[in-house]
Amino acid sequence: EEEPGLQTHPEEGRSGVHSYLIKTFYLSIIINQRSLPVFPYRQDLLAAIDQHQILVIEGETGSGKTTQIPQYLLEEGYTAGGMKIGCTQPRRVAAMSVSARVAQEMAVKLGNEVGYSIRFEDCTSERTVLKYMTDGMLLREFLTEPDLASYSVIIIDEAHERTLHTDILFGLIKDIARFRSNLKVLVASATLDTERFSSFFDDAPVFRIPGRRFPVDIYYTKAPEADYLEACVVSVLQIHVTQPPGDILVFLTGQEEIEACCELLQERCRRLGSKIAELIVLPIYANLPSDMQAKIFNPTPPGARKVVVATNIAETSLTIDGIIYVIDPGFCKQKSYNARTGMESLIVTPCSRASANQRAGRAGRVAAGKCFRLYTAWAFKHEMEETTVPEIQRTNLGNVVLLLKSLGINDLIHFDFMDPPPHETLVLALEQLYALGALNHLGELTKLGRRMAELPVDPMLSKMILASEQYKCSEEVLTIAAMLSVNNSIFYRPKDKVVHADNARMNFVVPGGDHMVLLNVYTQVRMGSGYSTQWCYENFIQFRSMKRARDVREQLEGLMDRIEVEVCSADGDNMKIRKVSTGYFYHTARLSKGGYKTVKHQQTVYVHPNSSLFEEQPRWLIYHELVFTTKEFMRQVIEIDSSWLLEVAPHYYKSKELEDSSSKKMPRKMGKAREELG
Ligand code: ADP
Ligand code: MG
Repeated sequence: EEEPGLQTHPEEGRSGVHSYLIKTFYLSIIINQRSLPVFPYRQDLLAAIDQHQILVIEGETGSGKTTQIPQYLLEEGYTAGGMKIGCTQPRRVAAMSVSARVAQEMAVKLGNEVGYSIRFEDCTSERTVLKYMTDGMLLREFLTEPDLASYSVIIIDEAHERTLHTDILFGLIKDIARFRSNLKVLVASATLDTERFSSFFDDAPVFRIPGRRFPVDIYYTKAPEADYLEACVVSVLQIHVTQPPGDILVFLTGQEEIEACCELLQERCRRLGSKIAELIVLPIYANLPSDMQAKIFNPTPPGARKVVVATNIAETSLTIDGIIYVIDPGFCKQKSYNARTGMESLIVTPCSRASANQRAGRAGRVAAGKCFRLYTAWAFKHEMEETTVPEIQRTNLGNVVLLLKSLGINDLIHFDFMDPPPHETLVLALEQLYALGALNHLGELTKLGRRMAELPVDPMLSKMILASEQYKCSEEVLTIAAMLSVNNSIFYRPKDKVVHADNARMNFVVPGGDHMVLLNVYTQVRMGSGYSTQWCYENFIQFRSMKRARDVREQLEGLMDRIEVEVCSADGDNMKIRKVSTGYFYHTARLSKGGYKTVKHQQTVYVHPNSSLFEEQPRWLIYHELVFTTKEFMRQVIEIDSSWLLEVAPHYYKSKELEDSSSKKMPRKMGKAREELG
């Protein structure tokens, strides 16, 4: 077998300038590899891994943990006999970007020896021995390979992020490591929390990679900023005009903000014209197409300055060389969960001090840097939490509980959690799965539940897909499910063409609600235009999102066979489709003065202004998700008839609730599931 390595690049050996350029390129990669903080510790690290089954590795962001250690292991022979090295990442973008970088360093094609696997996208092959994947994907691999027998090493990377999936992996992997003595487990983290990881893994040793860090001067604002987006734009331009060379990194909370910020920056630079040096504005967020993502790593041409506008993906997951200035408004988008009402929403909240310090650290990697915090020193001390609460304590657990039940783990109370989820959250997850029919009254997985677990989507969405069989509309429901999972990136709405974009969007509106609109868009793009980029452009539809929806749909359709769902079409009978949407019966809201109230808990919610039902305000709605911005908005809503709820969820709703008064009674028999939890 050919050993992948720097010498085997297919272009090697060609003559002339081309070959010279390639050699220079790989030389620069070798120089870069050897200059990384982890490099001098290569031997010590491999020795420690050899000696210990579980090792915690701590190192500053950018020290080479993610890109180098898997390569060391590969060179050391850990993939002998076709065994794999798996490396988990909490974020899809990181899994894609890092694997691409490693493939490049090893001069192999991405998807061959080095690959990545993220939800709905598998870029690996038979040859893949170095596999980067999201933590959620490794979790799903337990369903097909409960002892992860094909892996010789599992690296749980970015452990400090403490995502829900990473936390569950901790428990599962600790368990399998007991009987798989030949499995090596590495827990890699930025310089945070490593003692806790060590004690969780029975006092596993901690290997510290000493970092190189230059000093970072921190500046606060004197008064709170009313509009942090505008403040970011102003700060970037000020730095650009007054400060010495060096790239800028701006932290914002999500795609919309980032796009708005980039547009504002570009517009103002255009106005200033040749009065200022070139400013290269680059966004980075989860839904950004990968060729655009790659651009942030391109070296800045002399005389110009680069500004990368990022989500907290750039906090520790990705390292961009050359950053000297960081602008930190101090916010992030976080999931929050109310275990009493079962309502989950995305909220922009102040980030933690630990996050703020990581962000500042990004300015001091290559030279002394500066971090501009767009909040007061007082706010830093008094208004920010010390650390971020682990996701497991602020999210709906339905998905994970279903998965654990499918793995035969019934006793969730005694699962080895690093930080246990709140008791009510676990109970609620069990109740919801019971109401969906995934668990029986003893809390055991039903046949339906087993089928639901096969689908890599939220339990309510899998229920909807499975219910579509009975109502004979799975074609349409699969499309809707796919469109919902590329959420909020279908319609393109540039700032300077808002009116045109909104008109174009109106043209897609059909009765019934947003789900029907999404279905209509998909059908028109596919049938009407045959996936024409031009057509999408003219209709303000994001072509790439449509391609992604098509991929997701294909994958879901592929799974239908496995769970024995016959794919057939409703043939225009939209009522069937809307009926199936009541699989989301937890998300029912009823019109009430000035807004809506959720049926079970009487929470006030509103239709999102972008919804096709914003004006219409029908009496009964089902929403896909809640987003809190200025108030609680329901995004992606569909109109239903309340009588359908009795048909679809007779065990959950009583006819009285669907008339006027409401009751908070638990569904019958749920007492038993509660008992199981003690
Ligand atoms: P860590 O995981 O310790 O934070 P990484 O292994 O991700 O560190 O990064 C180490 C170095 O690899 C970075 O400092 C950078 O020089 C280089 N690097 C990583 N990803 C890329 C990329 N996509 N393009 C160019 N260089 C990269
Ligand atoms: Mg890393």
